[in-house]
Amino acid sequence: MQITDVFSKDLFRGTTVFITGGGSGINLGIAKNFAAVGASVAICGRSQERLDGAAAELREIGNPVFAQAADVRDYAALEAAITNAGQTLGTIGVLIAGAAGNFPASAEAITPNGFKSVLDIDVLGSFHAARAAFPQLKETRGSITFISAGQAFQAYPYQAHVGAAKAGVDMLMRDLAVDWGKHGIRCNSIVPGPIADTEGMRRLAPGEGAQGKLARAVPLQRLGSVDDIGRVAVFLASPLASYVTGTVLVADGGQNLLGSGMWAALAMGALG
Ligand code: NAP
Repeated sequence: MQITDVFSKDLFRGTTVFITGGGSGINLGIAKNFAAVGASVAICGRSQERLDGAAAELREIGNPVFAQAADVRDYAALEAAITNAGQTLGTIGVLIAGAAGNFPASAEAITPNGFKSVLDIDVLGSFHAARAAFPQLKETRGSITFISAGQAFQAYPYQAHVGAAKAGVDMLMRDLAVDWGKHGIRCNSIVPGPIADTEGMRRLAPGEGAQGKLARAVPLQRLGSVDDIGRVAVFLASPLASYVTGTVLVADGGQNLLGSGMWAALAMGALG
């Protein structure tokens, strides 16, 4: 199934979508789905080389693309990328805050600096993106979607740093939905489940057969795809979701309903 089997290929024609961390994985999948329905897409990340490769893939879809390296922890650099994207492609109408850091580490092993680094990328980086895009989103009465994770509301082994960071992201999302609702700006989060062929899965479910076992433990009996998440992101930013703000939309095949036990067994088995 292609997104254009359901949504018009012109749904986001004339809309600029800015995606932090858009050079790879789930965020690149989101970028491709927006491009497929006509959006002009801007991406940032730390590596210009990675962004250039992603931008080339996005251009093949056929709409304008902008890529500028910026570390989301560096407000001035991110603000410059967001301003340049708006000037190049048109005023930003959708922000996806997807950049994140993750690695498995027990709470006693992670260094304070490692813990801070994840909080800085996820929480501070998400705020930086929202704050820098605000003037443009106010003009377009646009929307922000934060990419969260199940660790925000469920305890996982070796994920104390991510749990704290993503819970912070979701609460930031709710507070911004309240503060910026008067400008017509909608704010929501997506919680992806275990998504195949991503860096997150490679790091959190390593080891022979781990991902297959995890897939069988998901109620829908499969891992998600980057397109599963990309389509949800398009829906949330679309007029179909015009009265949806302050929501955490879980797209995980039902994985969270069964707790983190299977993941704990896999992670402990593979890592501990
Ligand atoms: P990924 O490919 O590693 O995506 C993370 C992106 O963020 C990369 O493109 C990375 O590019 C960028 N990034 C990291 N630090 C940055 C920084 N300081 N400044 C700017 N960009 C930065 O991993 P993914 O697994 O697809 O994850 C994407 C999102 O989905 C994350 O928010 C993650 O928490 C969430 N998520 C993933 C899963 C999963 O199953 N994979 C499940 C739940 C939630 P550079 O390294 O070039 O900067």
